Amino acid sequence: MTVGYLRPTRILVDQNAIYENIQNELKDLKGTDAVIFPVLKANAYGHGMIPVAEAAQAAGAAGFCVAILDEALALRRANFMEPILVLGITQPTEIELVIANQISITVGSLEWLQAAYEIVQQIPYPQPMHIHLSVDSGMGRIGFRDATELLAAATFIKAHAKYFDLEGIFTHFATADDPDDTYFKEQSARFNELVAVLPERPRFVHVSNSATSLWHSACNENLIRMGISMYGLNPSGNAIPELPYALKPALSLESELVFVKQVEAGSKIGYGATYEASESEWIGTIPIGYADGWSRRMQGSTVLVDGHRCEIIGRVCMDQLMIRLPKQYPVGTKVVFVGKSGDDEITLQEIADYAGTIHYEIICGLSDRLPRVYSGIDEH
Ligand SMILES: *Cc1c(COP(=O)(O)O)cnc(C)c1O
Repeated sequence: MTVGYLRPTRILVDQNAIYENIQNELKDLKGTDAVIFPVLKANAYGHGMIPVAEAAQAAGAAGFCVAILDEALALRRANFMEPILVLGITQPTEIELVIANQISITVGSLEWLQAAYEIVQQIPYPQPMHIHLSVDSGMGRIGFRDATELLAAATFIKAHAKYFDLEGIFTHFATADDPDDTYFKEQSARFNELVAVLPERPRFVHVSNSATSLWHSACNENLIRMGISMYGLNPSGNAIPELPYALKPALSLESELVFVKQVEAGSKIGYGATYEASESEWIGTIPIGYADGWSRRMQGSTVLVDGHRCEIIGRVCMDQLMIRLPKQYPVGTKVVFVGKSGDDEITLQEIADYAGTIHYEIICGLSDRLPRVYSGIDEH
């Protein structure tokens, strides 16, 4: 993807916010043996993996989580030497890369281990691969559901210690961000039941995504997979406003007016000519569109110009969109899509609510065409 460095549309990422969110979580964990593995999947939720990893490392991250092997290898290529856990299923055919790069991987079935055993024997001088067993305690995505199979997997690993090292066991909650904790408790009980079949607890036992560590910290175990809260966003959206510490959003999105005109009443704007000016109006054009991740659903939402809310009018185009201005503003005037302007602020939660989705999807959808500009980490 060609990055648009030469147009005035950019994502600003405050690395200090990431640093502070992790430090606040570490303070919350004080007195426990839990460590933080920030979750850097999907280009660090759209924030940019390497600069987020740098801020997280400075803040005291003990390792990292990613979703896929390619992301783990990208971190290794950038010289991050901490443990890296791939949370999704890795193809057994890729285990030579896993071993050579000392990546920790998630295993969710005995069948996978048996397939890997066949392959690993072909590899010259293998080191043991670090395995985290995934337990499906009720998420219904990946992992062991059955105690007998889980024990068989642990036994298989132990019997083939030349190739396999049981580094961790974990589960993932489906409703940790729900004010109703009934299902959470069921999952927690099921996980404990399954972990109890292992003859010994591995070095890492983990259950906590952001929501769990914020609202169910008593269940934390000893590794926190800190995702959305590191980026300063409330995992629950609006459902649970109470937080143990304030979260500081790291991402903002800005552009500039590149074209400004006054149109007469009756003038049409945009594809389909769906908008008609009801009076003489000032219209601004901004170089961002659905190819950048600003979806067509955002028609009718607002952006901030000089502290004023301005409506996106007409259809959002692939690369441009139009807004109605309260008065004439010069080309080059700043336009805020996410973040503060004057006394007002547009949050990612507001955007997600308008688009009928969650903020996770908005930030992950911001395309690679948008340059990411980093504020840099202060001396702490
Ligand atoms: C993505 C993910 C996380 C992080 O979730 P957040 O809600 O962003 O904290 C943690 N664990 C697993 C298994 C994940 O897939």
